[in-house]
Amino acid sequence: MKNYSTDPETTGGADDREAMSEDLHDLFLDELADLYNAEKQLTRALPKMVAAAQSQELKTAISSHLQETQQHVRRLEQAAESLDEELPEKTCPAMEGLIEEASELLEEQKGKPTLDAAIIAAAQKVEHYEIASYGTVRAWAEQMGHDDAAKLLQETLDEESAADEKLSEIAMTSVNRSGEE
Ligand code: ZN
Ligand code: FE
Ligand code: FE
Repeated sequence: MKNYSTDPETTGGADDREAMSEDLHDLFLDELADLYNAEKQLTRALPKMVAAAQSQELKTAISSHLQETQQHVRRLEQAAESLDEELPEKTCPAMEGLIEEASELLEEQKGKPTLDAAIIAAAQKVEHYEIASYGTVRAWAEQMGHDDAAKLLQETLDEESAADEKLSEIAMTSVNRSGEE
C-alpha cells in the first residue's frame, strides 16, 4: 500500500521523484527488450502467414509489413543506443502465445474459404499488442525527455497503425466477402 500521508518527510520530495524516474527508466528498458524479442519472433512468424495467405493482396500486405518489422528490430537497437544502453535479454510470452494461437488457427483453416479472414484476425491481434506497447514506451520516452528514442518509437507506432488499417481494409473488401460465398 502506498503511503498517502501528508508528512513532508515521507511524500513528494525530490528524492522520491528521482527514485521514480530511475525505476521508470529500468521499466522502460525492460519494455523495449520485450518488444525487441517480440519483433524478432515476428520476423520468423510472418513468412508463414505470407505463405498461407490465399489472396495476392494479403500476401503483399503481410510481406511488406515483414520488411517494416525488420526495420522495427533495428529501431529498437537504435533507441537503446541513443541512451547508451544495452537491451537486456528477454522473452515476450505474449507474442509467443499470439503466434502459437495463429499457427493453430492456420492449421484448422487450411483449405477453407475463411483462411484469409483467419490470417487477418491473427495478424491484427499481433498489431494491437504492438500498438499498445509502442504507445506506452513512446509516452514514457517523452516523459523522461528521451527525444530521439521517442521519435524512433513513434515512427514504428505509425507503421504498426498503418499495417492494422491496411488489414482492416483488406478484410472489408475482398476477404470477408469471399467467406460468405
Ligand atoms: Zn513491429
Ligand atoms: Fe510482451
Ligand atoms: Fe507489426
